This record gives sequence, C-alpha cells and structure tokens, in this order.
Amino acid sequence: MGFATDAIHAGVRPDPTTGAIMTPIYQTSTYAYEGLGKSRGYDYARTINPTRSALEENLATLEGGRAAYAFASGMAAISAVMTLLKTGDHAVVSDNVYGGTYRLFTSVLQDYGLQFSFVDTSRLETIEAALRPRTRMVYVETPTNPIMSLTDIEAVAALCRSRGLVSVVDNTFLTPFLQRPLALGADVVVHSTTKYLNGHSDSVGGAAILARDEHAERIKFVQNSAGAILSPFDSWLVLRGIKTLPLRMKAHDDNGRKTAAFLAAHPRVATVLYPGLPGHPQHALAQRQQRGFGGMISFTLKDEAAAPRFFERLRLCALAESLGGIETLVCQPSSMTHASVPAADRARLGITAGLVRISVGCEDVDDIIGDLDQALRAS
Ligand SMILES: *Cc1c(COP(=O)(O)O)cnc(C)c1O
Repeated sequence: MGFATDAIHAGVRPDPTTGAIMTPIYQTSTYAYEGLGKSRGYDYARTINPTRSALEENLATLEGGRAAYAFASGMAAISAVMTLLKTGDHAVVSDNVYGGTYRLFTSVLQDYGLQFSFVDTSRLETIEAALRPRTRMVYVETPTNPIMSLTDIEAVAALCRSRGLVSVVDNTFLTPFLQRPLALGADVVVHSTTKYLNGHSDSVGGAAILARDEHAERIKFVQNSAGAILSPFDSWLVLRGIKTLPLRMKAHDDNGRKTAAFLAAHPRVATVLYPGLPGHPQHALAQRQQRGFGGMISFTLKDEAAAPRFFERLRLCALAESLGGIETLVCQPSSMTHASVPAADRARLGITAGLVRISVGCEDVDDIIGDLDQALRAS
C-alpha cells in the first residue's frame, strides 16, 4: 500500500465488539479471563492495550520495521533503547543531539557505566576514529537540532553492520514520510511522537521501531518491565494525528521551503541553516536520503544584541520550545531547548544568542513570513 493509505489504515481494523470504524480508547487497567488459564490474549494493560497496539502496528508499518513500541515520552523511548547496552559499553553519538538526549546520556546513563563520545557524525571518518573496543552503538540525529547538519544514514548503517554495532536514528524531525532510516539499513528508529507524528501539540509520547527480531523482543520486554508505556488516550491521539501526517508534512515542507527562501534574502539575517537551500553544505545528501526538507529552519540574526527585540515583536509565531505542531513556533535554542548543554559546547556548535529556530507550521505561509518580517525589521 502507499504511504498515505498505510498512515490511515495500518494497524486499524473495525472494533470487533461494535464495528466502530475508529480504534476505541480502551481505558482499562485489566481484562477478565474467560476461565482459569484462559485469557483472551489481554491480561494487564501495562503489558498490552489494544489502542496502543494499533498505534504500534501502524508505526512499525510506516517505518518499515519488525515491531514498534510506544512510550510515555520520546525520552522514555530513548531510555528503553539504551538498555540494549550493558555496563562498560560505549556509544558514538551525534555532537548536537537533542538537549534532553545529551542530558540523559551524560548526567544519568554515564553513572551506570555507559560511555559516550559526542562527535560530528556528518563525517564518517570522525565516527571511525571514535570507535573503541567496547563500542556497541552509533546513535545519530539527522538533521541535527538546531544546527541542521545531516548524517549519511546508509553509510553509517553499513559501517555499523560491518563492525557488529547497533545503528540508531532519531527520526523525529523528518518522520517516515520524509525519511525512512530502516530502509537505508539502520537497525533502530526512535521518535518523540510529541512532535510531527502527533502533530497537534496536545500529547507527549515516544516510540522505538526495530528492524531486528532480537531488538524487538528486548524492547518489548523492557517496555513491560520498566513500564514507561504510552497511555490509551495518548495512543489514540497519536494514531489520529498520523492519519493526516502526509497532508501535514507536505504543508510543513512547502511552507518550510518558502520561509527559508524568504529568510535567506532578508537583510537582517546573516545565515540560514536549511538543507533545502542549494547553499546548504549537504544539500545533495538531503536530496538523496530525504523525500523533502521539512519545516525546521534555523537562522542567525546579523545583530545578536537585537535578538530580544525580535522575539518580543513576534505576534503570530509563538515563542515556545517543542516543534512539529500545526502552529508555527519560534525559539532561542541557547536559552531554551539547549540551555542544559554546557556553554563551551554551545559556543563550539554555534548555538549563540542570535541563533533562532523555527518550526514552520501549516498556517498560510504569507502570514508566517509577514510576522517574521515585521519582527526582523525591529531587530
Ligand atoms: C523532543 C525530542 C526528543 C524528546 O522527546 P520528548 O517527547 O520530549 O521526551 C528527542 N529527540 C528529538 C529530536 C526531539 O525533538
């Protein structure tokens, strides 16, 4: 089936009790047995819930995995995936990953004996140089947030396969509509469903999608053992959001391209970081491994001192963390999403006070551009 058909139908069947076309919210903690030793396949709702199962089957289909598991947040999904590592193991990680991922790895998991090297994964030789005898995983985000640098997923996956390492891709920014890491050879995809998959800024959730049976079995076991499951209501919201994922991603992509072109020509803007612009250093890779460029754009103001005025003047675009919803959000990564990254690392990565990140929404693009323009004029 085509992607849009799968987005609407995969994992979804008319409800067996009533024929309800939409998957019901099974708001129950437990299920009655038919008799002693005879469950109906459902025993306890941490272990299994039909609403969550429908979402998990849908996500597995969209990403082309063996199985998917839905978690209470993106960070819960990433935590579960990191249990594929054992004490003493080492992972190579993209150097400007999501701030929360950086915090989990360095301030939580390092205390349990896991080791991490944060490197520029856009260069394969940098990854190779960082490998150690105990390296077990390469964890990449592409494009990275907020610098928008890309990693060649196919090349990283091939390297990992040849060395027996697990390759993990955080596909939150592009979704399977624009990028399918498992088809490029990766082993694991993680998502914050909070962002584009749900798409309406009204749910926090996450998912892990696995290409290999042994990983799927382990993550299923950890999901039940650690218990950070996605609730029935949130599962229903995400499943509902995904039905319009192709429509929304087309709009985000279209508005993203137009907004990036507008910013690139603006006299108050110094640089625009958007893989869809021909001037982006990895534009060719973006065209090869992505089906579009999406709605995430970062740019720097010519006058960094004017940043507060720019943010205060915005009217339509809300000043907020997060991304991927139907409404346009603007943030200052240095003080907001990436405040937990040490100042020295922020400076090295170029996350300055004049760096602005936009999650371009699905409003009329002229309204988005008009709001940015009037705020830029004040900057
Ligand atoms: C938001 C985000 C996460 C974390 O997800 P939560 O749902 O907030 O826990 C992880 N990775 C990326 C790229 C994100 O944008």
